[in-house]
Amino acid sequence: MADGFRVFVTCDIGEALEVLRKRGYHVEVYPDPKAPPKSLVLEKVRSGVDGLITTLRDQIDAEVFEAGKGTLKVVAQFAVGFDNINRADANRYKIPFTNTADVLTEATAEFAFFMLGLLARKMWPAEHLTRENKWGFWHPCLPFLGDEVTGKMVAIIGTGRIGLAMIKKCAGFDMNILCYDPAYQNHEYVKATQETMDLRHARGIQTEKTWIKYVSFEEALGQADFVSVHVPLLRKGESETPTFHLFNERTLRMMKRSAFLVNTSRGPVIDENALAKALRENWIAGAALDVYEKEPLPADSPLRDPAIEDRCRLLPHFASAAKITRLSPDPNKGMAGRCVQGLIDVLEKNYGGNVKKMPYVVNKEAF
Ligand code: NAD
Repeated sequence: MADGFRVFVTCDIGEALEVLRKRGYHVEVYPDPKAPPKSLVLEKVRSGVDGLITTLRDQIDAEVFEAGKGTLKVVAQFAVGFDNINRADANRYKIPFTNTADVLTEATAEFAFFMLGLLARKMWPAEHLTRENKWGFWHPCLPFLGDEVTGKMVAIIGTGRIGLAMIKKCAGFDMNILCYDPAYQNHEYVKATQETMDLRHARGIQTEKTWIKYVSFEEALGQADFVSVHVPLLRKGESETPTFHLFNERTLRMMKRSAFLVNTSRGPVIDENALAKALRENWIAGAALDVYEKEPLPADSPLRDPAIEDRCRLLPHFASAAKITRLSPDPNKGMAGRCVQGLIDVLEKNYGGNVKKMPYVVNKEAF
């Protein structure tokens, strides 16, 4: 138990905050659903809070760490992605920050798969047809047909936690799978998936044989019917394999004209102007997006062009937005629970106070 820690939370994350209050923490929650202005975050940090709970909407950088010099001990991010936190700055100030990896993996992967299906089977234009009373008669090929996913080829770009979970979903739909990841390759997982595919075929559960393998980026884009993106946002200088605008005019042109692109990672991984052009000019068949270069999606975004509406699905950064995933106070189930536990670990010096041993701390290299 540790009395008296002060924590500022930049938005309400629900009942998990009671865990802190019951431990005697003073918890202040920014009451507005919108993100607080940075000036307010700075003011709170300057006033001496011990911990900050943040979301991807808050820019956490040297200015914030400087304001908290001597008092701020931890930043607990309510997300697995942390591109809003300047890692180099956190390291310079030796402030550990935590994330909520793993608990949102399955929810995000299943959403990516549903987006893929929504796009492939043209469910959005089909429902519009029904609602607008334009469904005149049943016909074998009118008013349009979708593409089945069964037996098709999917490319998984980034085979980390969510990419691997997406592989599992796609394998269950009898898809062939191309994997690409320049930094981390899980050959054991790929081998086990192939064994599962072979067993399903041998036991008559799937009629066609399917396969999975690692390939180059060019091969993945050139061959896939569906491309699903599961990389972190890494800008130039942040990684040897940056992902900023990984999808641009050059790489979008590598995809098949009949292929679909699904992005649940981070918006700036795709150059949206290039994507809008690719859709307008039919370089690819369609795209489903959950994340954008600027969020919320601006009213004048080229992605809103009515000319591409039938083949461009736009979701509001929603992939992890499921009840248990977002709000469970159990650190093994919910982002809220894991976020709060990450904060407690640092402030209460769990694991003998050894930051390197704390499972939810991201920037262990600074300690
Ligand atoms: P992870 O770190 O486990 O996996 C990311 C993988 O991408 C790693 O294996 C890494 O080697 C790989 N990678 C890095 N650079 C690459 C490159 N240039 N090309 C291909 N692969 C590359 O992360 P995760 O838990 O799987 O999450 C992935 C990302 O998904 C997060 O960083 C976050 O931005 C995003 N995300 C979005 C939502 C949402 O609501 N839309 C929810 C959860 C996560």
